[in-house]
Amino acid sequence: MPLFRCEGCSIRIERSMAAYWRNKGKLLCSTCLDRQEMPLKTAESGRKRGSSEFRANSNKS
Ligand SMILES: [Zn+2]
Repeated sequence: MPLFRCEGCSIRIERSMAAYWRNKGKLLCSTCLDRQEMPLKTAESGRKRGSSEFRANSNKS
């Protein structure tokens, strides 16, 4: 498998070309993947909705 550079920490990682194209040329090592996925999931499901509601409420008063 070819070697690529991790977008997050520049470590050299072995990935398949299929993974390369699937990620549009941006590859992350498993460490950076874990770090990236966790905040993304919580932000999209909970934080966005919560912050907008909070703003609407605070603007009224
Ligand atoms: Zn990395």
